[in-house]
Amino acid sequence: MGRYTGSVCRLCRREAEKLYLKGERCYSEKCSLEKKPYIPGQHGKSRRGKPTEYGLQLREKQKAKRFYGVQERQFRNYFEKADRQAGVTGDNLLTMLERRLDNVVYRMGLGSSRKEARQLVNHGHFLVNGRKVNIPSMLVKVGDTISVREKSKESPKFKELQAQAAYRTPPEWLEINAETLTGRVIAYPKREQIDAPIDEHLIVELYSR
Ligand code: SF4
Repeated sequence: MGRYTGSVCRLCRREAEKLYLKGERCYSEKCSLEKKPYIPGQHGKSRRGKPTEYGLQLREKQKAKRFYGVQERQFRNYFEKADRQAGVTGDNLLTMLERRLDNVVYRMGLGSSRKEARQLVNHGHFLVNGRKVNIPSMLVKVGDTISVREKSKESPKFKELQAQAAYRTPPEWLEINAETLTGRVIAYPKREQIDAPIDEHLIVELYSR
């Protein structure tokens, strides 16, 4: 299946949860989920009934994919890797998703949404350990330094992002220098440090069927 190109607000409404896919709008009264808190579509308002266990597990997986902007196959690959690692599979899965370069850029405050952060990475504005990287799915490691290309720093876009970043609180596992627009991974994120509205146990149950 290709990348979803429809309204991202419909995705939040489908999951009945704010997935923060639209930047500033998500924090305002213009948020579609707040205005229309029901499933999109003709019969959205009248859809009720208790979901099945499978239905709940499936929705949780869809939600996680949408939250991080990852497609089915790649998500499955993350799960399989997480399952092979030592420790709790669900925790490993979320840690891996958090380590994606587009997510790290977003967590650094440079991008009002993960989608925007992904675009910035795609356009080659970032360096990892001093080398240009334009792969949003790259997984950062402890000790990696993420910085903005010198030329990009001077652009009005990055000046604006820098001003916005000043109002965001970075996670504990990232050390940020707001002056130089640099981030360093000081640890892998623990589950309690990951601000994601996801019940990963349901995803593990789904894939363990
Ligand atoms: Fe979701 Fe943001 Fe749209 Fe609200 S504004 S429905 S949180 S994407």
